[in-house]
Amino acid sequence: MTVRCRPQGHGSLLLLAGALALAVSAGTGCSTGSPTGAGAAGSGASAGRIVVVTSTTVFADMVARVGGSLVDAVSLIPNGGDVHTFAPRPLDVERISAARLILMNGLGLDDWMTRLISDAGATAPVVRLAEDLPGASYVLGENGTPNPHLWLDVANAQRYVARIADRLAQVDPAHAADYAAGATAYTGRLQALDGWIRARVATIPPDGRLLVSFHDAFPYFARAYGLEIVGTVVAAPGQEPGAGQVIALINAIRAAGVKAVFAEAQFNPAIAEAIAQESGAQVVTDLYNDTLGNAPADTYEGMMRWDVERIVGALS
Ligand SMILES: [Zn+2]
Repeated sequence: MTVRCRPQGHGSLLLLAGALALAVSAGTGCSTGSPTGAGAAGSGASAGRIVVVTSTTVFADMVARVGGSLVDAVSLIPNGGDVHTFAPRPLDVERISAARLILMNGLGLDDWMTRLISDAGATAPVVRLAEDLPGASYVLGENGTPNPHLWLDVANAQRYVARIADRLAQVDPAHAADYAAGATAYTGRLQALDGWIRARVATIPPDGRLLVSFHDAFPYFARAYGLEIVGTVVAAPGQEPGAGQVIALINAIRAAGVKAVFAEAQFNPAIAEAIAQESGAQVVTDLYNDTLGNAPADTYEGMMRWDVERIVGALS
């Protein structure tokens, strides 16, 4: 199965108004992945395994890497879903009720999960991975609240992993050493990933390290790896950009000489395509950030490598 996000039509200035309307449509034009995500994780409870329910496939993959065969990591949002606007289904009530541990990002990314936990009467401990994260430095948005997408800086992903291992050990102390060993091995891979990203980004001409994305998911990534964010298409998923906002972004892209506009696979690409065409930039519509994709982007590590190769390829 391959991930294809087919354009709904060719972007042009004439289609900009139509693209604006499409920007917040529920259908993404993308269909990916299994309902539970996480490559090494299955769904439902297997005998003896610790059922860990997460909001997204990104966190489910981290749990699977740390816990291996000791855990069943279940993501409520399928690959290709939008974590910001997700509406839980009756199935999700059952899933979260069966959890021994519940992991969400927090910082407003997946607030719907708090309501789901309450409505389901779920009693498992709840971990908000991004909140009060030791060692993390937060990027504040215009409203003064922290941007929630910490995991796209691999150093923060390592902090998530440490927190996941600690909480798994609390829930299942008999296997604390296994979780610690899993976290240590995975952290080694993530450190190598971090170094690889730095080496790849270093191949982009310094004045070309400019990012425009669909939603504001990359500030931690950009800060960690030396890119500058010129703008985003929408202020937040589910919000429609005004025509003035779009024109301002087009002007900013032209003024900065941005080579590419990036859109994430979970969103309709029409408006990003129209903005790219109007500004003379190329468009890449298959980055991943909030959820994983299909292989080779079906793990956190694979997703990061996929994105970096797409970014380096478009900006070099
Ligand atoms: Zn997001």
